[in-house]
Amino acid sequence: MSKRAEHTPELHIIGGGMAGSEAAWQAVQMGVPVVIHEMRPQVETFAHKTGDLAEMVCSNSFRSDDDEQNAVGLLHWEMRAAGGLIMEMADAHSLPAGGALAVDRDAFSAGVTERLRAHPLVRVEEGEISTLPEDGHWIIATGPLTSEGLGQAIAAETGKDALAFFDAIAPIVYADSLDMDVIWAQSRYDKGETEEEQKAYLNCPMTKDQYEAFIDALLAADKTEFHEGETAGYFDGCLPIEVMAERGRETLRHGPMKPVGLTNAHKPDQKAYAVIQLRRDNALGTLYNIVGFQTKMKYGAQTEVFKTIPGMENARFARLGGIHRNTFLNSPTLLDSQMRLRSRPHLRFAGQITGVEGYVESAAMGLLAGRMAASEILGRDLPAPPPETAMGALVNHITGGAEAKTFQPMNVNFGLFPPLDGVRGGRRGRKERYKGYTDRAKELWQEWLDGAKAGELTE
Ligand SMILES: Cc1cc2nc3c(=O)[nH]c(=O)nc-3n(C[C@H](O)[C@H](O)[C@H](O)COP(=O)(O)OP(=O)(O)OC[C@H]3O[C@@H](n4cnc5c(N)ncnc54)[C@H](O)[C@@H]3O)c2cc1C
Repeated sequence: MSKRAEHTPELHIIGGGMAGSEAAWQAVQMGVPVVIHEMRPQVETFAHKTGDLAEMVCSNSFRSDDDEQNAVGLLHWEMRAAGGLIMEMADAHSLPAGGALAVDRDAFSAGVTERLRAHPLVRVEEGEISTLPEDGHWIIATGPLTSEGLGQAIAAETGKDALAFFDAIAPIVYADSLDMDVIWAQSRYDKGETEEEQKAYLNCPMTKDQYEAFIDALLAADKTEFHEGETAGYFDGCLPIEVMAERGRETLRHGPMKPVGLTNAHKPDQKAYAVIQLRRDNALGTLYNIVGFQTKMKYGAQTEVFKTIPGMENARFARLGGIHRNTFLNSPTLLDSQMRLRSRPHLRFAGQITGVEGYVESAAMGLLAGRMAASEILGRDLPAPPPETAMGALVNHITGGAEAKTFQPMNVNFGLFPPLDGVRGGRRGRKERYKGYTDRAKELWQEWLDGAKAGELTE
């Protein structure tokens, strides 16, 4: 440890997930020593399977990597420009997935763990923290599955503002149990540069009769009941398929089962009425997840229903779907623009618990919280990034931009960005508008990073 770091107060981070890992990385890059308090493997959650840092608990996708036309792709870009560890490891362990950034989950989290544990300024302390620390510098990044003890401590501090709701996990199948005489490989609209990317997805076609029978089976299937006191409100981006089917028989055909941009390689003349897509889940290509098929059907019902999908009659499941809890704060009322708890400013929050949704958004909020906390420790000012950047748009939303009364977890999207002058509205102007948003964001993000760097140099 350098002489300077020896005298620098430590930053404590509770939770070594997506947000905690990125926060730690950013702080140590600034010379601030970090202690990561991670409860796994001693205390488990129902979704995590390992003791590794930054474990991906469900899908292996970081979503679109398009930094010109997509807000999450822009967030990737901004995190890369900021030297983010999560993006570096995602890039190092990426898998072909058309325009999306999918990763080999085990190699990814092993990479993050190795890099952090090897850093001279990082110490990982295993064990659960179940009370709110009284002093020091802390980031709480305990995620949607915050342990019960700490959850209660937070609730006692914040009142009834922290609440829980449910998402659902998509099932994973073994590739060698799929019938490739029925299923074909193709990314929607053949998207991707290489042949591997253009064939990144497996497609199961359905006729109208098969689709109608599938919907009937979904509606009739046994579902998991909610426990007493649990709320049954769903985050709209992660609706279980049976809930989508309940909303209307055609809903799935316009969602995860839409048949567009695909040609059946076995029967090019036959247009499928609906298509179920599977995405590679590991580097070996032995596992595939069913895209968008989060579910709360009971296990027995799941295997029965999913085996009616053409090509999946003999499917074997590495993991079935499930429901999960999501703990998050009413951040607009509780956090200031530096992501500090107003009532106890030595506590910062980061990640999904702040009310963002998704791996990328959670890591992004870790990146910011890590830099903000380290700056504070070093006695430097670090203003929040401009709201025209993806990072700024998100943090601005959760710390004040959102309506507190109806606050729900949020993915990054262009709707959070301040409007651009002089561009066309509506669908027609969309491409030009999105390019305008992303060009503007990149310039301002770079300026913000340069400003932060200049602050370090003029010390
Ligand atoms: C079942 C499930 C499926 C999901 N699927 C997806 C998906 O497909 N795609 C997507 O983008 N997002 C998904 N999410 C959301 C996902 O969790 C977040 O996007 C992301 O992992 C959150 O990052 P985080 O760092 O905030 O929390 P996490 O990555 O969960 O990290 C929190 C860490 O804190 C630790 N911890 C908790 N309490 C304590 C304590 N008291 N003391 C010490 N350590 C503690 C946990 O063990 C964990 O390692 C899913 C969430 C769940 C629960």
